Amino acid sequence: MGARLLTSAFFGAWIEEAARSVRAERDELTRLDAAIGDADHGTNLDRGFTEAVRALGDRRPATPGAVLVLVGSTLIRKVGGASGPLYGTAFREAGKALGEVPEVSPADLAAALAAGVAGVRRLGSAVEGDKTMVDALAPAAEALAAALAGAVREGPGADGAPEAGTPAVGRDGHPSAPEDGRDGHPGAPVDGPAGAAGPDGRGLAAALAAAAEAARAGAEATIPMPARKGRASYLGPRSVGHQDPGATSAALILRALHTVAARW
Ligand code: ADP
Ligand code: MG
Repeated sequence: MGARLLTSAFFGAWIEEAARSVRAERDELTRLDAAIGDADHGTNLDRGFTEAVRALGDRRPATPGAVLVLVGSTLIRKVGGASGPLYGTAFREAGKALGEVPEVSPADLAAALAAGVAGVRRLGSAVEGDKTMVDALAPAAEALAAALAGAVREGPGADGAPEAGTPAVGRDGHPSAPEDGRDGHPGAPVDGPAGAAGPDGRGLAAALAAAAEAARAGAEATIPMPARKGRASYLGPRSVGHQDPGATSAALILRALHTVAARW
């Protein structure tokens, strides 16, 4: 059993992809925020992610944890509004959860995502159903953990190999250093049967496809909710009928994570 371990380059690629996606959807995010907020969410996030990419380009930290902490600190400084501190905390807490190792496993990524979501909940004290980014982030973290747990039970690990989470070598006995080829096909199935989701690179992509879909569905589910946190809550029942901008951007950021995992 071998996991394709995730390096700081993987996390850097995620942030670049997230920045591209936020740029492409900037006007849509701002339009959503215009309906129930103050029409700045797209520009806020675009500014922050652009700056995060620049910060990583200036000095790419050597560890995944340090990449995410730098991204979080940059978002806190540059995004502003409610979402800056919230996303900043999410990335900082996720980074801290990854520690100082040079490569992390899919299980580590799942734990980091859970830590990021916990940070958002702590800071914003929103629960699911309040019509916030938590409505996309929380189900995504749960879906990722569940998909990876299913992969450990049903995937290649079922041959009696040790638990996923601390794999040191590849299936073939070689260190599982990043290399193209084995599972780098962009067309790799991302949503196959659960048994296909082994805890290797392709299994991670499948698990992240489930997480991204959970986030998308979670964001969509905010449409009929009245907002109970943030600026949109001032509108009370008039916030019903609009998708939450922060939940929408959270779904974009998780989709970007799946996109980079599918080609990793
Ligand atoms: P602001 O509302 O200050 O203008 P943004 O427009 O950048 O900030 O972000 C708004 C988004 O922030 C909302 O759509 C919502 O998802 C999220 N948000 C606001 N308050 C909270 C909170 N207390 N907890 C979680 N998310 C929140
Ligand atoms: Mg706003």
